[in-house]
Amino acid sequence: MKYYSTNRQAPVADLHKAVVRGLAEDRGLYMPERIVSLPQDFLDAMPGMDFHAVACRVAEAFFGEDIPAEELRRIVCETLSFDCPVVPVGGGIYSLELFHGPTLAFKDVGARFMARMLRYFLQRDGAGLVDVLVATSGDTGSAVANGFLGVEGIRVHVLYPKGKVSPIQECQFTTLGQNVTALEIDGTFDDCQALVKNAFMDAELRGRLQLTSANSINVARFLPQSFYYFWAYAQLRARGVQGDIVMCVPSGNFGNLCSALFGARMGLPVRRFIAANNRNDVFYQYLQTGVYTPRPSVQTLANAMDVGDPSNFARILDLYGGDWQRIRAHISGAVVTDEMIRETVEDCARRTGYLLDPHGACGYRALREGLRPGETGVFCETAHPAKFKDAVESMTGTPVAIPERLARFMQGTKQSIPLSADYRDFKAFLLKL
Ligand SMILES: *Cc1c(COP(=O)(O)O)cnc(C)c1O
Repeated sequence: MKYYSTNRQAPVADLHKAVVRGLAEDRGLYMPERIVSLPQDFLDAMPGMDFHAVACRVAEAFFGEDIPAEELRRIVCETLSFDCPVVPVGGGIYSLELFHGPTLAFKDVGARFMARMLRYFLQRDGAGLVDVLVATSGDTGSAVANGFLGVEGIRVHVLYPKGKVSPIQECQFTTLGQNVTALEIDGTFDDCQALVKNAFMDAELRGRLQLTSANSINVARFLPQSFYYFWAYAQLRARGVQGDIVMCVPSGNFGNLCSALFGARMGLPVRRFIAANNRNDVFYQYLQTGVYTPRPSVQTLANAMDVGDPSNFARILDLYGGDWQRIRAHISGAVVTDEMIRETVEDCARRTGYLLDPHGACGYRALREGLRPGETGVFCETAHPAKFKDAVESMTGTPVAIPERLARFMQGTKQSIPLSADYRDFKAFLLKL
């Protein structure tokens, strides 16, 4: 399979190149040149299959030409070492729980898959060590660090701004050891990003090290997210749910929604999609007006969705040939303010006993308001409420229990290397590796 750039000014890439590069030379996002339709007999059989079997079939459609079946199976099964169950919340609404992975958020799926795919390419080509550089304001660092943890041939360096990530987030990438190093930068998140960017542009470094980024626009991170949309559908039908299914995705950079749209293009029988935004609503505005106007992001309670210029918008446009009418016929939008998030978390917990996190609350709220008679809705619960313990407790007035795997991180010993925000220090560090 070849991958083209959404900007169409770069040469097509094979899978290996698309994964190592992340972004095309023209700064566009890679798209697979074909999207394979899955046969009807597979769609019919899904409700009787297990998660791994469903995911392997979907993975084969994307990656089957480039990775031998046995190897791909191993990558998929190792990635999905946890379930993504569908849980009824009431009123024809189900929660697709994507927080059962190591860092309790959906990004675990893509990060784990990418790490294992990269390992496969390194071993196949005998390509030596790869260094992954990732700048984080909190959540990406933990998903990437844990996704790559213990994967042979890969070293991960997480750059984070000193004193500016929450203690829960910090312990998820500073206590790991093994092939993960945390670099505590005396600066801001923007400084961390600038250091990483400079390193990628530094010819001397690139001659010495194989550098790669693992950011969320990588095809190896976003395509595998379609696995759990197929699995959600299979579970609903297995539960006897009839009629039209609507999926609602709380969105920031729109990678997760994009994966769902790819699923639909492959034949996943979902009637329509809802993109739930917080107050960062440029996509919602686009759906209303046909005009896309990026804006600086504003801070909200659902902070992983605080994105003012979602990078995957380019992929959505490309997928629909830039046709606004087609896009809005398939996807509707919703805006959920902080006040509505608070109200929704409290109300849902009180009426149904189901505890939402602030991101899932956006999805649940959008479904409650947008579901039509006869439809069944499923929203992504993208993170465990315990990751936002203080906020959620203040909304419901009841303590949130910390799951065992999160508590374990918090007991670990923090190990990080302090560095200034001066590029020369960072470069000297990398040259000594
Ligand atoms: C990253 C993230 C989102 C947003 O997902 P996108 O793919 O960027 O749209 C939503 N919720 C949580 C908890 C996240 O970590």
